[in-house]
Amino acid sequence: MNTDYIYFCSPINAIVEGIYEEKIPFTHIKTQGDFGLGTFDHLDGEMVMLDGNIYQMTADGKVKQVDEKSLTPYSCVTFYRPLTEEFLEESLNYQAFLAWLKDLLPSLNIFYAIRIEGYFENVKVRSVPKTENYKPLVEVAQTQPEFEFSHIRGTLAGFYTPSYMSSISVPGLHLHFISEDVQHGGHLMSCCPKGIKVGIQFIHSLKMDIPLSLDYLTCDFKRDTAKDLDKAEN
Ligand SMILES: [Zn+2]
Repeated sequence: MNTDYIYFCSPINAIVEGIYEEKIPFTHIKTQGDFGLGTFDHLDGEMVMLDGNIYQMTADGKVKQVDEKSLTPYSCVTFYRPLTEEFLEESLNYQAFLAWLKDLLPSLNIFYAIRIEGYFENVKVRSVPKTENYKPLVEVAQTQPEFEFSHIRGTLAGFYTPSYMSSISVPGLHLHFISEDVQHGGHLMSCCPKGIKVGIQFIHSLKMDIPLSLDYLTCDFKRDTAKDLDKAEN
């Protein structure tokens, strides 16, 4: 029996509705996984977790390793145990790379944790700027600084989420990049890999906590946020 599960400390809907502070410590997140992505309280940068290490990639282009006392309103993690490993030697543009990657997923109706390591001819990322509560994510997304890197080694980490889970997680592929030298990173917008190793973990179980903050408990979640999320994340 496969006991792997994906863990969410809150549904993504809360972020889409502008609840950017939940004060959930990474000491808790790390009891649920050693690999994943998310953000920090007040949307203060993109988060990537690799081998239990937590990295913060802020809108000024800086990357730093942070300790477990840091706080998050939204993180998604798992204990990473890839089932399959694939290698891609040739150079692919982003569309071809996405098609190649999707072919590795036997069904689009379960979760996958995906870790990609290697060399990239080009990587384009962005990072969220620090934001106070209640500014809709779709507006924040319009002011996110973008960064582009050429000939860079690094890791992409994240998940594939089935489309019917869009109130809980970003549907489709959601990957964060961090360079091998831990100097650059962010939310992946596009990349051209050339010589990568791809590990894939199949996940068909999920665990989610529901925040008990006043903001969360009194938020009206009736609005369909799928369009906002699509605009903000893609
Ligand atoms: Zn992201």
